[in-house]
Amino acid sequence: MTEPVLANAIDVAYIAAAILFILALKWLSAPATARRGVRAGEIGMVLAVVGALLRHEIVSYQWILVAFFLGSAVGIPMAVFMPMTAVPQRTALSHAFGALAAALVGTAEYYLRTPTLDAFTMSAQMLLGFLTFTGSLMAFGKLQELLPTRPITYRGQNVVNLGLLGLAVAIAIYLVADPGATPLFPVFAGLALVFGVLLIIPIGGADMPTVISLLNSYAGLSASAMGFVLDNKLLIIAGALDGASGFILSVIMCKAMNRSFTNVLFGAFGSVQAGAAAPAGERTVRSATPEDAASILAAATSVIIVPGYGMAVAQAQHKVRELYEALTKRGIEVRFAIHPVAGRMPGHMNVLLAEAEIPYDRLVEMEEINPEFPQTDVALVIGANDVTNPAARHDTSSPIYGMPILDVDRAKTVMVIKRSMSPGFAGVENELYYMDKTLMLFGDAKAVVGEMVKALSSVAHA
Ligand code: NAP
Repeated sequence: MTEPVLANAIDVAYIAAAILFILALKWLSAPATARRGVRAGEIGMVLAVVGALLRHEIVSYQWILVAFFLGSAVGIPMAVFMPMTAVPQRTALSHAFGALAAALVGTAEYYLRTPTLDAFTMSAQMLLGFLTFTGSLMAFGKLQELLPTRPITYRGQNVVNLGLLGLAVAIAIYLVADPGATPLFPVFAGLALVFGVLLIIPIGGADMPTVISLLNSYAGLSASAMGFVLDNKLLIIAGALDGASGFILSVIMCKAMNRSFTNVLFGAFGSVQAGAAAPAGERTVRSATPEDAASILAAATSVIIVPGYGMAVAQAQHKVRELYEALTKRGIEVRFAIHPVAGRMPGHMNVLLAEAEIPYDRLVEMEEINPEFPQTDVALVIGANDVTNPAARHDTSSPIYGMPILDVDRAKTVMVIKRSMSPGFAGVENELYYMDKTLMLFGDAKAVVGEMVKALSSVAHA
C-alpha cells in the first residue's frame, strides 16, 4: 500500500472506531441493547489497535508483541477467573494500568522531546496519570480488603492534601515555562503519585465505586491529553468519551445516594458513628421458613422482588429466575425493583438478572416501582439492605438519611432473605426488620430461594 492510501485507510479505521465507541456507550445504557454495545466497543477497539499498528512511525513490532503477550497473560485470567462480585476492584486495576501507561508515555516523551514538546498538555496528562495510578491501586486495595476499608482521617488532612496538589501544580507550571528544568521532573511525578494515595486514604470502602468512576474519568482525560501529545485524534476522542462518561456516572451515583462530590471525596463516609449501628435492644424480629414463605407467595396476586448485593454474593440469580417462573405460572404478577446503587457497581442487578434471562420488561426502576408498593401483596427482599432502609426517609441522624430508597415497607407483607442481622455496606441497622409485617428468612440467598421453589411446587394452586 502506498503511503497516502495507507494514511487514508488509517483515518477511515479511526473514524469507524470513534463512531463505534459512541454507539457502544449509547447501547450500553439499556439492558436490551447492552450486548450489542459490548460488541460495538470490541470491534471499535480492534479497528483502533489495527489502525495504530499500521502507522508509519512504527519501525519494529518486536516490543509490541512482547507487550501484547504480557498484557494478554495478565488480562485473560483477570477476565475469566475474577468473580462478578469483584468487578469493581478489577475495574480499579484496569484504570491503574491505563493511567500508568499514559503517565509512562508522557515521561518518555518528556525526556525524548524536551524542549520542543507541548509541555502544558503533557504536564496535565502526567499529573492525572500518576495520581490515577496510585489512587486506583489504593481503591483496589480497599475493595479487596487488603487495606483497611474505613476512612483514615486526621486533623488538617484536607489542607495537607490540597497543599501537596498545589505544590505539584506549581512545579508543573514551572516546567511549562522552563521544560529544560529536568531535575524537577521526578519531584513532580513523585508528588502526583503521593497525592493519589492521600486522596483515597480518607475515603471509606462504601464510596469506592463512586471514586473508581471518578478515577475512570481522570484516566480518560489523561489518555485524551496523551492523544494531543502523540497527535493521535482517536486517542483524543476515546479519552474524552471515557472522561465524560466516567464523570456522568459518578454524578448519577452521587444523586442516587443523595450525596455531593465533596461529601464523597472529603466526607469520610463509613467512619464508625455514634448510634449508627445501635444495638437492637428489646426489639424482636419474626422469622419464617421457606415453606411458610412459599404458602404466602402462593396466595399473593402481586409480588415485587428486590435484589441486592447478597443475591450477587450468593449467585442466586438462576434460582431467582426459577422462583419467578414458578410464580408467573400461577398467574402471580412478578416484577423486579431496581435501585440504582444496589450491589457494588452501577447496573450490578441488571447484569445478574439479564444473565439469568429474566425478561427486561420485568425490571422496573426505582421511581416507577415505588408508587406500586402499597398495592403489592409481597415485597421479597433478596440480599438487599441499605437500599430498603426506611431510616433514609426520616432519621436525620442516619448516615444514609436522604438517600432515595425502595419503599418496600409500604407493601402489605415484607419478606427478607439474608444470613443474619448484620448491617449492610453503610454499617447501619435496618428498622425494616423489626416491623410487624416483616418476616425474616435467615440463610444463604441461593439456598433459601431454592427451598422456596421446591416448597412452592407442593403448595396447591389457588
Ligand atoms: P447492602 O446494604 O450492602 O446489604 C447486602 C446484604 O446482603 C447484607 O445485609 C448481607 O446480610 C446480605 N448478604 C450477603 N451475603 C449474602 C448471602 N450469601 N445470602 C443472603 N444474603 C447475603 O446491599 P444493597 O442493599 O445492595 O446496597 C448497596 C450498598 O452499596 C449501598 O449502601 C450503596 O450506597 C453502596 N454503594 C453501591 C454502589 C453501586 O454502584 N452499586 C456504589 C457506591 C456505594 P448478611 O450478612 O446478614 O447475610
